[in-house]
Amino acid sequence: MAHYTGPVCRFCRRAGEKLFLKGERCFSSKCAIEKRRRAPGEQSPRRRRQSDRAVQLREKQKLRQIYGILERQFSNYMQEARRKPGVTGQLLLQMLESRLDNVVFRLGFADSRSQARQLVNHGHFKVNDRKTDIPSYLVKAGDSIAWYETSTKSEYFKILKEGSLKRTPPSWLGIDTEALTGKVYSVPDPQEVDTRVDTRLIVEYYSR
Ligand code: SF4
Repeated sequence: MAHYTGPVCRFCRRAGEKLFLKGERCFSSKCAIEKRRRAPGEQSPRRRRQSDRAVQLREKQKLRQIYGILERQFSNYMQEARRKPGVTGQLLLQMLESRLDNVVFRLGFADSRSQARQLVNHGHFKVNDRKTDIPSYLVKAGDSIAWYETSTKSEYFKILKEGSLKRTPPSWLGIDTEALTGKVYSVPDPQEVDTRVDTRLIVEYYSR
C-alpha cells in the first residue's frame, strides 16, 4: 500500500500544533514548530475566520497525517466505520489504533509510526506466529505480536531489550518486557488515544 514519504513537519505547521510525527525530534528544540509556527507558504500571520468546512477538513487531515494514511485508505476506514453499529468517530479511532504499525508503535518498539511501518514492512514481526508484513493489518483481541526469529538477533532488538522501549503501552495492550512480545487484550479504547482530534468534525466532513 502506497504511503506518503515527503517531509512531515509541514503538516504540523499547517495544523498549527505538534502532531508528533518524528519521534524524539518532536520533543527537542529541533522541532520545526518550536522554531516557526507559520503555515508553509504563509508570509505574514493573518487572522482569517475559517469556514466550518475548512475546520472539518483540518481535523480530518490531522488524523490522517498522524496515522500516516493516504486519502483513499482513510476514506475506506470512514466508510467501514459508518457501516458498523456504534459511534462512528470512535469506531474510526478503533480501526486506526488496531493497525499493526500503530500497535508496534504503541508497544514501544518504534519511535514513530513511520518507523513502525518500516519495521513491519521489512518483515520483523509475526502475528499469532505468522510472519505479517502488512502495516494496515488490523489486530484483534487475543492476537499476539512477536519479533521474527532472525530479527531478534539484530542490534536494534538488543538495544530495545536493554531497556530502551520507547513508551508504556495503553491498557488494551500488554507487553512482555523480557521476550519483547505483545498481546492484544481488547479492542482499543478511544479514551486512551492521545491525539487531540475532534472526530465529530471528521464525521460531519464525510456526511456531506
Ligand atoms: Fe511536528 Fe515532530 Fe516535526 Fe515538530 S519535529 S514539527 S512535532 S513532526
